Amino acid sequence: MVRRENIMVPKPRSNFVSVQCKKCGEKTVVFTHTTIDINCKSCGEPVATKTGARAEILGKVMGVLDQ
Ligand SMILES: [Zn+2]
Repeated sequence: MVRRENIMVPKPRSNFVSVQCKKCGEKTVVFTHTTIDINCKSCGEPVATKTGARAEILGKVMGVLDQ
């Protein structure tokens, strides 16, 4: 008897979103599963924060960028 093991490799749907800073309006591309906090490159306002899974977007999401 042949045992066929179907090992599903989890593929998290990770992509990039364009986030607009609430403070200055600068757009920053944020990886949705970032493991670091992302700050606005212009004014330093946090635009995304790590949660351990999907990042919490703090700014305004302007669009999703597929890889
Ligand atoms: Zn900013």
